[in-house]
This record gives sequence, C-alpha cells and structure tokens, in this order.
Amino acid sequence: MHEAAPAAPEAAVIGAGPAGLMAAEALAAQGVAVHVFDAMPSVGRKFLLAGKGGLNLTHAEPFERFVPRYGAAQAVLLPALQAFGPQALRDWAAALGVSTFVGSSQRVFPTDLKAAPLLRAWLHRLRAQGVALHMRHRWLGWADDGALVFHTPQGEQHLRPSATVLALGGASWSRLGSDGAWWPWLAARGVPLAPLAPSNCGFDVGWSAHLAAQFAGAPLKGVVLRFEGFEQAGEMVLTATGVEGSLVYAASQHLRERIAAEGAATFHLDLLPARDADWVARELAAGRGSRSLGSHLRTRLNLPPAKAALLFEGLAPGQRSDVALLAARLKALPVTVRAPRPIDEAISSAGGVRFEGLDEQLMLRALPGVFCAGEMLDWEAPTGGYLLTACFATGRRAGQGAAQWLRRPSAQSASPSTNATA
Ligand SMILES: Cc1cc2nc3c(=O)[nH]c(=O)nc-3n(C[C@H](O)[C@H](O)[C@H](O)COP(=O)(O)OP(=O)(O)OC[C@H]3O[C@@H](n4cnc5c(N)ncnc54)[C@H](O)[C@@H]3O)c2cc1C
Repeated sequence: MHEAAPAAPEAAVIGAGPAGLMAAEALAAQGVAVHVFDAMPSVGRKFLLAGKGGLNLTHAEPFERFVPRYGAAQAVLLPALQAFGPQALRDWAAALGVSTFVGSSQRVFPTDLKAAPLLRAWLHRLRAQGVALHMRHRWLGWADDGALVFHTPQGEQHLRPSATVLALGGASWSRLGSDGAWWPWLAARGVPLAPLAPSNCGFDVGWSAHLAAQFAGAPLKGVVLRFEGFEQAGEMVLTATGVEGSLVYAASQHLRERIAAEGAATFHLDLLPARDADWVARELAAGRGSRSLGSHLRTRLNLPPAKAALLFEGLAPGQRSDVALLAARLKALPVTVRAPRPIDEAISSAGGVRFEGLDEQLMLRALPGVFCAGEMLDWEAPTGGYLLTACFATGRRAGQGAAQWLRRPSAQSASPSTNATA
C-alpha cells in the first residue's frame, strides 16, 4: 500500500501527533525529505480525541498572560511560543480552511469544534509537500550501532536518518499511542529526564459508600477551590473515588506536588462563593420548622443535593445540626486528596525530557542530530489550549532545528549513522 521507508532517510519524525506533524511540516518547508513513523494504524489519535469534547486549540488572552501558564518552563518555551504563538496557530488553521472563534472564557476553538476536518486538511497538505507517513511502525529504541529500530508489519527495520525528531507524547491514554515506553531508552543514552507524572488529572479522596454510590458523576458548579496561593472559580465533578474536572485539573500540579512531598493535600472549597459568611450563617439559623435539613439547605441556600452530601461527608450525626460548623464548612469545606489518579487517565503528562538536556533548537545535547518536541518535554500547563499550543510550537521549532542541522556545513561529510551514537 505505502512504500517502505529508505534505510537512510534524510529526516525521520517519530510520532504523528500534533508535535510530530508540525515538525514534519517545518522540515518539508525547508525542502527536506521527511518520513514520519507512528506505532498506531492512523495518525493523531489523541488529537482526534481532544476534538470530541470541542477542540480547544489555543487561548486568546494577551501573550504576557498566556506565557506564565507554563510555570517553571515559561522561559525555555518562550522562543518557540514567540515564533508560533496563539495568533500564528489560528492563522495556520485558517490557511488550512479551518476558521476559529474565541469562546466566552477566551478559549479558542475551530468553528465546528472538531479536530477531524483540520487533521484531514493538514494531512492532505503534508502529503502534497512530500511527507511520507509510515503507520504501524513502532520505534523500539536504538541499536548498538546507533540505528533506529522499528517493529513494522514487514518485520524489524533499522534506519539511519541524518536527523531525527522524537515527538512521542507523554504517557496518558496509552491506548491512543503515547505510552512513555521511550523513557528508559533516552535515559540509557544519558538524556536527563524528569519522571512522567499525571497532570490535569483527578484525585482520590476515599468517599463514604453513600457519597460514592449516590453522587459519583455529580457536578459541583460555581465553586471556588483554594489551595495555598491557588484560587480559582469553576466546576468540578465528584467521582466514585474522589474528584475530577476542569477546576481540579487546574490545581493538579500543586496538589500532586504536595501529595508527593507529604502523602496528602487538603484544599478548601467555597460552595457558595456568591454569598458571604454572614448571609450563610443567617440563612442556616433561620427556623426550618418540620423541613429536613436537606430541604432547608435547598430552599434557603439553594444548595443542590451533591453539595449538601459533600457538606455532611465525614460529619458525626451530632455535628450535622451544628449551625456554626455547617456555615464554616459551606464557605471553606476541607477536602483531602491522597493520590492522583493513574497517569493513563490523565489529560496530559508532566515530566519528560529536561530542558537542560536540549539546546535552543530542542536538539538533545547527548545525541546530536536528535530533536524532541511536544508533550514528551518537561513542561506542563493547565487545560485551555495551552497544551496543544506548546506541542505545535515546539514541534515547529524542533523541525526547523533539524532542517538547520541538516544544512550545517559539516553535514556533507557526516555519516548518517552517527547521529544517535554520540
Ligand atoms: C481527552 C483529552 C482531551 C484533550 N483536549 C485538549 C484540548 O482541547 N486542548 C489542548 O490543548 N490539549 C488537549 N489535550 C492534550 C493534547 O491532546 C496533547 O497534549 C497532545 O496531543 C500532545 O501532542 P504530542 O504530539 O506531543 O503527543 P501525542 O498526541 O500523544 O502523539 C504522540 C504520537 O507518538 C506515537 N508514539 C508514541 N510512542 C511511539 C513509538 N515507540 N513508536 C512509534 N510511535 C510512537 C503515538 O502513537 C502518538 O501518535 C487533550 C488530551 C486528552 C487525553
């Protein structure tokens, strides 16, 4: 069906997610013959999944507010984001025939919200640019002589590209392709790596059987989550084991780091942020006649059943009528999370290739000629389009870096096989 890859392609990109495809596009734009390899039968599976709930491509806030979302990695990501930031990404999508709009929260989506039309148009253009795609090619690391080893439908293949871009993703949703198998292979080659960890993930609390059975899946809308310096309004969801949802994801880095250090993290929820503590105390204290407490909370405080269940969670029967205690909990309900959910369930991964192991072009210092891009790099960011933007931006930078590497004066005399053996 498709042609076999040459034994020594000019450039190999491994990983056909947004980062890898963008690297391929940047290489092809410089006239480089690019071969893209992916373990899965088709490209961009996580990207397509991201499109199921509405593809949040990027964010329209001012650039000086956008960049700090990358926290500790903002400085090292800055050159890539300056060269290909939110507006450039929107222009790029527009050139593929996909218009975008800014949603109410400043998040940017394709007009039809989907990923598939964009990916289709992009693949069409990549093929027209001469990019060759090789699916069902699972990279297995390097052979002792530095060749890239692939498991393919035709058996094992060894390739010696002159430049390689790794865009293998993190380790969440492994059934879509990114499984983090690359981590020990890079570690063995002396690449500095941070352990992969769940980011934008849910957490386990350990609810009572009642709360787990009755309220798993129930949303908590219009709450404020506070954890030390972090404070954000939004929505979260109760699960059978704990909590998840956008508000929890936004706090996930802080919570994960605290759990790693101390074994647990306690955040506080304001269940009625639009009301002050005095109003809450007054309404609670108002006579409730023959009404149950649940019904009193619903009628006087407009508190839905899931919030009421959370309010009572862990309280002894005698405490449930303690009005002062309930009022305090309504404004600052402590929730102790004990473990992040497994990385496979997370939206994204933290950790990966440390920037100290990369030069400005995202080339590995330990492996000249090998570049890295996307989620496999050691950065994390909240949901809101920041993940995809950095994947596209670093993919483009790595692709351009690889093209520059191929054009360096000494490249004419360099042996293709030496690029992974340094
Ligand atoms: C449910 C969900 C919704 C999301 N929604 C959004 C959103 O709306 N906005 C946003 O910004 N981000 C979103 N994300 C995150 C975003 O999809 C990822 O950050 C992004 O896809 C990462 O891109 P990448 O190219 O680095 O890696 P990936 O997209 O993971 O691609 C890596 C590729 O490498 C291949 N690969 C891995 N190992 C090998 C190997 N050994 N050999 C060959 N191939 C290999 C994989 O098969 C895969 O195709 C979402 C994620 C999830 C899970």
